[in-house]
Amino acid sequence: MDRDLAARLDEVDGRIAQAASDAGRDPALLTRIVVTKFHSAELVRELAALGVRDVGENKQQELTAKRAELPDLDANWHFIGQIQTNKARAVRAAASIVHSVDRARLADALDAAAPDDESVLDVLLQVNLTDDPGRGGVEPAELESLAEHVDGCRTLRVRGVMAVAPLDEEPASAFARLRAYSDRLRAVVPDADWMSAGMTADFVEAIAAGATHLRIGSAITGPRPMHG
Ligand SMILES: *Cc1c(COP(=O)(O)O)cnc(C)c1O
Repeated sequence: MDRDLAARLDEVDGRIAQAASDAGRDPALLTRIVVTKFHSAELVRELAALGVRDVGENKQQELTAKRAELPDLDANWHFIGQIQTNKARAVRAAASIVHSVDRARLADALDAAAPDDESVLDVLLQVNLTDDPGRGGVEPAELESLAEHVDGCRTLRVRGVMAVAPLDEEPASAFARLRAYSDRLRAVVPDADWMSAGMTADFVEAIAAGATHLRIGSAITGPRPMHG
């Protein structure tokens, strides 16, 4: 067992608890997702042994491979990366929750990939907080129409909004905008009150802004191994 891993996890959980308390929020209502992208399935197993129940991946092939290596792992697998429509079936087969629905066509593909029992998949709508359309996420002006569309997909349940803070803006102001988008979403889907925001560099600001799902990688896993 990697003692440093346990120490980093404890340290981050302590900072989460402090940030929640500073914001007058109950830390028990926050879901801390450990982002394990580029790390081995073995690291995911170690995290699970430390009590981690929520892990995040951003590439379909990596998610599919890790789940195949860890078939019995008791964890929720959160998919947080951009999804090509032709990968929707594979994402649906491997993910427990999808944070990155950003267009109607993708929602339709995920819906069409429902298992035979038509069990429902929890999804979040990713909103683009930057001016760069390549960053993924629906344009804010299109949030309500996307919400209505996804809400009409029989096997998808809209749970909330997700975003990544831009690099060139204070996270607090970016997350304040996300908070407003969350309010707009709830005008369409009243119980969609999840807000997935906050990474290693900005989870304190995200908690202050109302995030419910934190996606924290390197502060817990250590630096990601070199990759292409
Ligand atoms: C990698 C990633 C994270 C975690 O990033 P860290 O800075 O390592 O905490 C969170 N969200 C998304 C969408 C990511 O791709």
